[in-house]
Amino acid sequence: MSNEQNDVKVKALFGKEKNPSNIMPRKLTLDSTIKFRCHPGVSCFTACCGGIKIVLTPYDILILSKRLEIPAHEFLQLYTTPTYLENTDMPGVMIKMREEDNKCPFVTPDGCTVYTDRPSACRYYPVGMADFHEAGQKDENGSEISGGDDKFFFVVKEDYCKGHEEDKEWTVREWRADQGVDVRDEMNRDWLRLVMRRKSHGKQATLSEQGKRMFFMASTDLATFRRFIFESSFLDTYVVDPELVEKIKEDDIEMLHFSYRYLASSLFGVQDEGFKIKDERIQAKVSTMKQEQDQSVLQAVRQYEALKADIDDLTPGGKKK
Ligand code: SF4
Ligand code: SF4
Repeated sequence: MSNEQNDVKVKALFGKEKNPSNIMPRKLTLDSTIKFRCHPGVSCFTACCGGIKIVLTPYDILILSKRLEIPAHEFLQLYTTPTYLENTDMPGVMIKMREEDNKCPFVTPDGCTVYTDRPSACRYYPVGMADFHEAGQKDENGSEISGGDDKFFFVVKEDYCKGHEEDKEWTVREWRADQGVDVRDEMNRDWLRLVMRRKSHGKQATLSEQGKRMFFMASTDLATFRRFIFESSFLDTYVVDPELVEKIKEDDIEMLHFSYRYLASSLFGVQDEGFKIKDERIQAKVSTMKQEQDQSVLQAVRQYEALKADIDDLTPGGKKK
C-alpha cells in the first residue's frame, strides 16, 4: 500500500481532522452511549492492524520499548519509520508496517502481541476526542483559554470494522476506562499540545533545525535526553529544583513530563517558573553581548575616522592633497 493510501487509514491520535468522512456527525460527552465491541470472534479481527498510520507518542515509545526489553533507540530502528506530526515540520515516528504483508509488526492471527501495552492511537479507536484547548486557542488579549467546555468525543466508523454491529453498549466514559485511555491522556496531553501549538502557528513560523532535533530526541529517546540533561552544561545553565533533578535521574515518567516542559519553554517560549536560566549565565551572556557591542561600536568609530581622514585629505576638486 502506498503512503497516500496509508494516510487514508489512520488511527486518530490528534483529534477530529483525521478520516473526516468516517467521523459520525454526533458530538458525544462522557455520558453518551455507543454500541461497539471488538473481540477475536468478529469477522474483521485484526483488519484494523494493517496498512495504517499509527503515530507513536513519547509515552508509547517508552512503554513499548520496556515491554520488548530493548532500549528506545533500538526500538525506533526496528519498529518505526519517521513521519511529520499533524502536517507540521515537527518530526516524529510511526509504526513501520511489515514489508511482506503491510501489517503491524505486532499483529498475529491471534491478535495483538503487545495488547496491554498497545499504543495510544490503538486505544483511542474508534472513539476520538477533540480538545480545542490543545490548539492553543487564545482570547482577545492573547492569553491561552483554559477550562470551559472545549472537549468532546466522536465515533470513527470504518466500513470494514464490524465492531459497530455488536450489541454491547457503553458510555464513552466506560469505554475509555476499559481501554486505559485516561492514563494515556495524562501522559500524552502536554506533548500533543506542543504539536497543536506548532500547528496553530502555521507555516509562516519555522522551527530551527536545532529545535527540530531537540524535539525529536526528547520525544523519542528519553535515555539520550537524560544524558543531554546530565552530561551537557544544561544544569549549569538552568535553575532546576534539586528535588526534581534527583527524580529525573531515575524516574522515566518524571523525565517525560520534564522533557515536555523543557520543549514548551525552549521551542515556544512558554514561561516556566520551575526552571529559569541562572542569573550568572544571563549576566555572562549580557557581558559577552556588551563586549561584542563595544567592539562593533569601536570598529564603526574607527571606520568613520578613517573615512573622515580620507575626506579631509581630499582637495576641493576631489584630488588627494
Ligand atoms: S499495536 Fe497491536 S493493536 Fe495496534 S495496530 Fe499493532 S497489532 Fe494492532
Ligand atoms: S472490530 Fe474493528 S477494531 Fe475490532 S478488529 Fe475489527 S476492525 Fe479492528
